[in-house]
Amino acid sequence: MFAPYGKWPPSSRKPSSFAVHIDGKSGQGMPVTIGSDRDAPKKSHIGMAIQESPNFENTKVAFSAKSTFELKKAEWLFSMIGRSWITGLAKSITNFSLKMGLPIDPLLKYTVFGHFCGGETVEQCKGTVENMYQHGGVSSILDYSVEGKQGESFFEGTLQTLLEVCAHAKANPAVPFLVFKPSGMGRFEIYQKVSERRGLDQAEMLEWERISQRFDTICGAVAATDSLKIMIDAEESWIQKAIDGLVESMMLKYNGKRTVVFNTVQMYRNDRLSYLHNVHSFGRDHNVRIGVKLVRGAYMEKERERARTNGYESPICSDKAATDANFDSGLKFCLLNLEVFDVFVGTHNEGSCLQFSQKLNEEGMAKNDHRIWFGQLYGMSDHISFNLAKEGYNTAKYVPFGPVKEVVPYLFRRAEENTSVGSQTSRELSFIKKELQRRKKERELSKI
Ligand SMILES: Cc1cc2nc3c(=O)[nH]c(=O)nc-3n(C[C@H](O)[C@H](O)[C@H](O)COP(=O)(O)OP(=O)(O)OC[C@H]3O[C@@H](n4cnc5c(N)ncnc54)[C@H](O)[C@@H]3O)c2cc1C
Repeated sequence: MFAPYGKWPPSSRKPSSFAVHIDGKSGQGMPVTIGSDRDAPKKSHIGMAIQESPNFENTKVAFSAKSTFELKKAEWLFSMIGRSWITGLAKSITNFSLKMGLPIDPLLKYTVFGHFCGGETVEQCKGTVENMYQHGGVSSILDYSVEGKQGESFFEGTLQTLLEVCAHAKANPAVPFLVFKPSGMGRFEIYQKVSERRGLDQAEMLEWERISQRFDTICGAVAATDSLKIMIDAEESWIQKAIDGLVESMMLKYNGKRTVVFNTVQMYRNDRLSYLHNVHSFGRDHNVRIGVKLVRGAYMEKERERARTNGYESPICSDKAATDANFDSGLKFCLLNLEVFDVFVGTHNEGSCLQFSQKLNEEGMAKNDHRIWFGQLYGMSDHISFNLAKEGYNTAKYVPFGPVKEVVPYLFRRAEENTSVGSQTSRELSFIKKELQRRKKERELSKI
């Protein structure tokens, strides 16, 4: 049985306790051997030199897809959103202007929207997608980021947009995944009722059927392509049971030959390591592959607040260290069980990316093993994405898109996240400044 490991020291080059069999090509399709081989001597270096770790400090690589003008704009933007009062004020002014119908689209496009989004439509994202792929080998995941809307026509519209993305992506190697949020496909209350095993009335039953049908339509369309995959985002814990069930049924239907459907596992939840164990058994028992996107989780305050208000124990790990340990254990469990799992590591945490990439190297696995992906969000942590891709790891960025006014909630979540994670903002800013300095020096030298 799996036993959680402790921290992975990034500097560790100790032989691991399990061996990996590689085919000498890319490691594709070859299982990580578990069980008795775990205690066998390390074999991971069969003919393979230990590879260098990615260097996240390399700003030339990090910003290879950005012009100097774009970098200067980003410098200005991050210095603004680093101050919480400015973000708060900008949010109020934007919401007021939108309510009053004032024409603020151009301003948003020039600032936050331009930085964090690829465009308003799939077509408009093409430039961003091409640019990242050609300059840095970084793939894109087009993310329709309209949030907080309800109603059957909106849900149907989301499905049609996803089908459009699918048609575009199947002919474009730079877009390997689709993604969607379950709340974009159906009413939150229905997911909650199903999760809580409360009875649905006739109309609600039909609503739930329509939701299931939408999941099936898009997963089926993705499965019908040669290599596209689809990730389903995770949201609040009190709707997740319904989503887990639906996504597992999609895996059962579509993950036979290859891994098409990925669920999201939020490792800030206390119970998610055992969920990984369960879903692993499910995959093994049913002979289907299990795709998982591992993230820490984005709704911590909301989760804790609801637990407090309703008087139940919070499902979230007690502190950041506990979340980190859970995240590491989850990643290790997946890595040990690649005969069942495909894993997408969704994080902006440099340590996590470094440790996981080193772990792959230590085990002699190909950096571009098709079962393993790293991912960040567009407009953030280019130093991670582009340096990972430069080293040969499969790396993709979520590229949000949608009508400017309708992605405003997403944009302010990003801005607030960057405000609250103060050190991350200053780190982004310091990399941008460093690269601007480097380019200035380069220009000066070229004049000599
Ligand atoms: C490509 C991608 C896809 C994503 N998809 C989803 C998704 O589908 N669903 C979703 O919920 N999130 C998603 N996220 C967001 C993710 O869950 C995190 O909120 C975000 O990435 C920050 O975590 P980190 O690992 O990048 O960085 P870190 O800075 O290392 O971690 C911050 C995270 O640690 C946890 N944490 C912080 N303080 C505490 C504390 N006191 N106690 C316990 N835990 C704490 C929280 O989860 C917090 O978000 C995604 C992120 C990426 C990059």
